[in-house]
Amino acid sequence: MSEVLPQLDELLFSSVEGVLVESVEVTDTVVRVEARTTARRAACPECGYWSGRIHGSYLRFPRDLPTAGKLVVVSLRVRRFVCAEDSCTRKTFAEQVPGLTRRFGRRTERLRSTLVSVGLALAGRAGALMTDAFKIPVSRNTLLRLIASLPDPVTATPRVVGVDEYAQRKGRIYGTVLVDVETRRPIDLLPDREAGTLAAWLAERSDIEIICRDRAPFFAEGATRGAPQALQVADRWHLWHNLGEAAEKCVYRHRGCLRPTSAQPEEPQEEAEPTASSPWPTGHRFAERTRAKHATIHALLGAGHSKRPVAGSSA
Ligand SMILES: [Zn+2]
Repeated sequence: MSEVLPQLDELLFSSVEGVLVESVEVTDTVVRVEARTTARRAACPECGYWSGRIHGSYLRFPRDLPTAGKLVVVSLRVRRFVCAEDSCTRKTFAEQVPGLTRRFGRRTERLRSTLVSVGLALAGRAGALMTDAFKIPVSRNTLLRLIASLPDPVTATPRVVGVDEYAQRKGRIYGTVLVDVETRRPIDLLPDREAGTLAAWLAERSDIEIICRDRAPFFAEGATRGAPQALQVADRWHLWHNLGEAAEKCVYRHRGCLRPTSAQPEEPQEEAEPTASSPWPTGHRFAERTRAKHATIHALLGAGHSKRPVAGSSA
């Protein structure tokens, strides 16, 4: 076995430095690899002090990628070093093996990155099914947690930024979403929709040339304060939305100008009510009620009510 061990080192830990395989035990379902670290010193994660004073050692059991259809568990002996830096709050620290372990990690880095790849490709539920097939079963919540713990991708400062609000907690909490309009990708979320928060975000990005936003006063103020160099424009959706609302109000105001003509087209009668004193034909009462219900629904939504109770009250 002793001649084989160096080859196992090369096979199992070729991309990792400072790990020595001491033995390999194979059962029907599990490959257990006993290994130990060999680095002479380690850096304190708190202050960066390099220490060679060993305080003690203990075993870790990180799960690894499967091999030959069997689970692989590494039984890794790691050491705890003494940090001699006076100003450091840590007295001792455990060594980590770059590329193999991380603090509190129960999986090797290569198993972790494989699971992350599965999660990114398939998300939680389908990804969890696939990890079963790969003999590295984890729950869908574990996959989602691994994805959530990834660092945010580095994004370049956009030239044209879109600013809009988003809702949490069924519409009771609002934040601000920022979008790179040219790549159509969201680039950041702010926890509220305050002018000061938006202004601070914009002030750190002086290359922004155009801000595309809705007409909310807090966004207008934030954009003016945070990016005075930028041109502010209204976004297309809000322009159409506002135009639609204005047209509806205008038509509603001038409803008295409308008179029934002699040749009215046939209207659905099933919802009509008696209209002895109304200038409207019976079928138009139905349209009127629909408009009134529409306005009520939007007033309730605008007041912050969520869709479910609004649907119940307007049914
Ligand atoms: Zn330290």
